Amino acid sequence: MLNVTKTFLPPQEEYNAILKRAWDKGWITNRGTLVKELEEKLKEHLGVINLLATTNGTLPLQIAIKALGLTGEIITTPFSYVATTSSIVWEGCTPVFVDIHPEYLTIDEKKIETAITSQTSAIMATHVFGNPCAVEAIEVIAKKHNLKVIYDAAHCFGVTYKGKSIFEYGDVSTCSFHATKLFHTGEGGALFTKDKELFDTLFYLHNFGHMGKENFQGIGINAKMSELQAAMGLAVLPYVERIKKNRERVAAIYSEELESLQQLKVRKEAIWNFAYFPVIFPTEKTLLQVRENLNKSNIYPRRYFYPCLTNLPYIQNADSPISQDISKRILCLPIYDDISTTEVLQICNIIKRSK
Ligand SMILES: *Cc1c(COP(=O)(O)O)cnc(C)c1O
Repeated sequence: MLNVTKTFLPPQEEYNAILKRAWDKGWITNRGTLVKELEEKLKEHLGVINLLATTNGTLPLQIAIKALGLTGEIITTPFSYVATTSSIVWEGCTPVFVDIHPEYLTIDEKKIETAITSQTSAIMATHVFGNPCAVEAIEVIAKKHNLKVIYDAAHCFGVTYKGKSIFEYGDVSTCSFHATKLFHTGEGGALFTKDKELFDTLFYLHNFGHMGKENFQGIGINAKMSELQAAMGLAVLPYVERIKKNRERVAAIYSEELESLQQLKVRKEAIWNFAYFPVIFPTEKTLLQVRENLNKSNIYPRRYFYPCLTNLPYIQNADSPISQDISKRILCLPIYDDISTTEVLQICNIIKRSK
């Protein structure tokens, strides 16, 4: 069976050797040495100043909204995983969708300004499939209208834009280290900001508001990464370059073999991470036919992201025609470390024969 992704599992003895350090210390959570070591190694690997490891990639979105004191309306993308929208609603704010660019699939910066009202407090956009948003244009709009910017960079491990980590853009960026993501800790994630004071606030918020053992800085939540999660991260990290190279190999085959289909347009000056390989079919009918044919051969691509987030049951009056259309026609093909070239070619052949 070939799925859209397959979790990279490091050699078990390497994971166990790292876990043993937690055992020997008798310390498995509350920011032990493994979490701190992982944070240091990730900062170096990614080239970022501040990084806070968290227990997943969703709480960071909620914490960012809280830390920035956002209220009212938040402009966001309808083409993302549900967590982007649900975090806004969960924090008591109203998501206002701005349609996506038909080729980059990120929020269309040219449509943002018309959606701004006196209630707008921020823009929360997704670098979807690891493809950077138009970060410079968004920064100009945010400055002009005094808005905060949060990037859901869940897909962006290792992505750079204009020579620097994509996590350094926006007021706050977040990442997911879920098992289905390129780099993972089973469940996990991270918060990023270049602003030291804001970083301190994020830190307090992720640990109940604790300021020392007996003092509280304010209200907080629990989003701490455990030592067990950090051990997985430390075991996976040495393989990350290999994982990316193998994904690049797979992407190159898809890209060439399926050149008659619309593929993701990666933004110029970005170094992409091959986190996903989406293809866009001419019609939903073709997509469903291709999927059926792949399923018959035990191959399971995924409809990321379908349905369009404007269709969520708790969303009203949302209209984003481009996102709604693309959501129906886009399919993410299997891409992961050890998928063989033969398997990738088999997938391509089934797709080509389906048309
Ligand atoms: C995976 C994902 C998340 C959520 O991350 P978790 O670690 O699963 O909580 C948020 N946003 C996007 C775009 C994602 O793909």
